[in-house]
Amino acid sequence: MSDPAADVIVIGAGVIGCSIAFHLATLGRLRVHVVDRLTIGAGTSAQSSGILRTHYSVPQNVELARRSFAAFERFAEYVGDDEADAGLVRCGYLIAAPEGPRRAALQTALAQQQATGVPVQLLGAREAAERLPIARFDDAALIGFEPEAGFADAYLVASGFARAARRHGTRFHEGVAVEGLLREGSRVTGVLTAQGPMHAGLVISAQNIWTPELQAWTGIAMPVYPERHRVFAFETPAAPYTQAMPVYKDLGSPGMLYCRSYGGRQMLVSEGIAGERLAAPEIEQADIPMDAVLEVGEQVAARFPAYAEAGLASSWTGVYDVTPDWNPVLGAVPGVEGLLVAFGFSGHGFKLSPAVGRLVAQLALAQPTEVAADPYAIERFAQGRLLTGAYGAGAVS
Ligand SMILES: Cc1cc2nc3c(=O)[nH]c(=O)nc-3n(C[C@H](O)[C@H](O)[C@H](O)COP(=O)(O)OP(=O)(O)OC[C@H]3O[C@@H](n4cnc5c(N)ncnc54)[C@H](O)[C@@H]3O)c2cc1C
Repeated sequence: MSDPAADVIVIGAGVIGCSIAFHLATLGRLRVHVVDRLTIGAGTSAQSSGILRTHYSVPQNVELARRSFAAFERFAEYVGDDEADAGLVRCGYLIAAPEGPRRAALQTALAQQQATGVPVQLLGAREAAERLPIARFDDAALIGFEPEAGFADAYLVASGFARAARRHGTRFHEGVAVEGLLREGSRVTGVLTAQGPMHAGLVISAQNIWTPELQAWTGIAMPVYPERHRVFAFETPAAPYTQAMPVYKDLGSPGMLYCRSYGGRQMLVSEGIAGERLAAPEIEQADIPMDAVLEVGEQVAARFPAYAEAGLASSWTGVYDVTPDWNPVLGAVPGVEGLLVAFGFSGHGFKLSPAVGRLVAQLALAQPTEVAADPYAIERFAQGRLLTGAYGAGAVS
């Protein structure tokens, strides 16, 4: 491969790398090259459940999610492409907790959202049942509803950002693996790919579960590990989960289930607790034992009585890039000039992707950022400033 002139090389064309590339190309008019050993959006982004909420107990996450939702809502305009479509279903987000510690965490997070201007409503059990009639709420001590939420399609968003970035001159190199960094002293000067070297003054790694490769290239610890999760689609003709019904987060279930409409009639379900830690990153589909289907199915039936008769329509596995505090790492890597990272989205990176792309691009361009970047710095782990809120370390964050 010839070595095309680039100002910035982005490693990874997932929803995060594509968003970074789009924002670099539009904010900085830079010559951006994106390199991916797979194809655009074919990494973990293709496995996403796509849920969009601003419900977080970490205030900076609320800010990133709020700004991102505004981008999803007018995605075509945001990327300047009439044909771009995020596949947004703006059905809202309902979250309920029984008495106990999760109720206290929910109360704190809802109050914080309201304080930051997010329109959140507190619902009684009857009002909640009007919005989600297939569920029971008799054990709910606190119920929050967020109208500006729903779900979208991570693959469509990644390709939408990529297409818009291309229109601004960004070049995508698909099927090309990065195998190392080029360096002069402590400064990164490009990447070494399977097809040859590529030079640039700045390299941004958006490698998700493959970030440990960067650890091998730099000798600097990257605090992230791969964790496999399972997603199920259940269906019962007696109680379709329609697109008019909100996404539902069940803090009362053992698995802290999240559910949403899938294909207009089915229920997509996954657990909001730790998954299976993997020894190495891989995105191949794994077997889901029947015991796991029954375990999740029982929790679904306990919340949605008509789903006691439901069938499993489909299922798949996906892998999270988990950090010690379940929040992303964004920004420079001390000791390595010209290198920025964006990894560790811990199962909730899609909903943050527009604002994260903008934030990382602004850092790369040395422009002021609208959202504080420091809380996401890699140094926080060594300095003991973990980014956790009322929910503690976990995917709700
Ligand atoms: C099952 C599941 C459900 C989820 N549900 C939600 C949800 O409901 N809401 C939400 O907000 N988030 C959710 N997420 C998380 C969200 O999907 C991810 O945080 C987001 O898609 C990550 O995007 P990314 O660009 O960082 O990673 P990826 O899409 O994995 O992209 C990384 C890319 O880097 C490339 N790459 C890595 N190393 C190299 C190399 N050496 N050379 C070349 N290319 C390389 C890979 O090929 C890959 O394409 C979910 C994730 C999973 C797995």
